[in-house]
Amino acid sequence: MKQHILLGGGIAGLTCAHQLIKAGKKVRLFEKNQMNHTQGHAFILMPNGMAALDKIGLKEEVLRKSHSIRQFQLHHTDGTLIDYQKLNGAIGIRRGTLMKILIDSLPTDCIQFEKGFSHFNYKKSGAIEAAVFQDGTICSGDVFIGADGIWSKSRQEVVNDFTLSPVRIREIVSVVKAPHLVQQYKNSFLKVINKRGGMAVGMLPCDDQHLVWFVQYDSHHHDLLETTLEEQKERLFQLTRQWCDPIPELIHKTDLNKSYVWHTTDMPPISTYFKNNLALIGDAAHVLLTLTSQGVSCALEDAICLANLLIEKDHLPIEVAFEEYTTTRKTMADTYFQMGRTLKEQFLYPMQTKKKMAVPLAFSNS
Ligand SMILES: Cc1cc2nc3c(=O)[nH]c(=O)nc-3n(C[C@H](O)[C@H](O)[C@H](O)COP(=O)(O)OP(=O)(O)OC[C@H]3O[C@@H](n4cnc5c(N)ncnc54)[C@H](O)[C@@H]3O)c2cc1C
Repeated sequence: MKQHILLGGGIAGLTCAHQLIKAGKKVRLFEKNQMNHTQGHAFILMPNGMAALDKIGLKEEVLRKSHSIRQFQLHHTDGTLIDYQKLNGAIGIRRGTLMKILIDSLPTDCIQFEKGFSHFNYKKSGAIEAAVFQDGTICSGDVFIGADGIWSKSRQEVVNDFTLSPVRIREIVSVVKAPHLVQQYKNSFLKVINKRGGMAVGMLPCDDQHLVWFVQYDSHHHDLLETTLEEQKERLFQLTRQWCDPIPELIHKTDLNKSYVWHTTDMPPISTYFKNNLALIGDAAHVLLTLTSQGVSCALEDAICLANLLIEKDHLPIEVAFEEYTTTRKTMADTYFQMGRTLKEQFLYPMQTKKKMAVPLAFSNS
């Protein structure tokens, strides 16, 4: 039986392992960090992400531990409604909750934490023979899957023509405990944008007690230049303090020290997701702007698509499954990437956009 080696125990890696193990495949997963699934804040899972979880039998458990999101509302800072979209089947969920569900669904002996991947050993044929870890240990296998996130080391083994560059747009993410706001804004993903562009606040409940909220901003904004990150956080909270409800209350309730600043990164689509017996999934394969709200959902879809093809085409050369996986998933991820670029332009320069502003989600119910 083929040995599957997964590098990276984030959402994509754990999901792929879950599906392969369920089908009786031999799997070993290596994660560089300690087992600490409380890391991270929260996110939206779009209907495609939920459909992916449904395929692996985890949808019901996830629904019990998250908050359903049924509508998206876009407002100006004075509260005027600009746009509205139904979201059939989306949820808000804390990252730790989803990570725990995924980890608990796996046999404990298939995951090794604190095992950072370093490089590969190759066969004469060019195929990978084994993964070598930072502590010098080696693990051989037949199928290798790089799920090691944005700063992926395994990506370098597949392509060498990729560029990661910082994006002007940054995001401050915070989770606040506010059960009454969860009730008031039940089932809603709310986004408030500045007419002149360059600043937006989003908010959604992520369980029955908490909301996740984020400030997206242009780091070239004249009010924020040449200040430290801490000063930027303070300044941003001041700048949005006068915005419509519930933003002032969210700011009031937020512990600035626990807010996280994301430095969003851009990577144009890479030419392929596999080489020989190594394939990439999730952020290792594609980097999507946070404006798309697709990072996690797309990673889930990749993981399940690849696992299912590996199971179905187990009797065929590995390239057959990898080829089909790349064709299927790259088309989708490239589309989300382009939507991200459009949303970025509209976010930074809304006045120059003649067309009606697109709803800042890389998703359509149609
Ligand atoms: C700690 C953390 C917190 C996050 N919090 C949020 C959040 O609040 N909101 C949000 O929208 N997104 C968050 N994200 C990002 C989001 O989870 C991912 O963009 C998305 O889920 C895609 O999943 P992924 O599995 O491809 O990547 P990730 O979830 O980033 O997982 C990649 C995994 O690979 C591991 N890894 C990296 N290098 C190596 C190596 N050399 N060897 C072994 N393992 C390695 C990382 O430790 C990580 O666990 C977070 C990611 C991380 C890692």
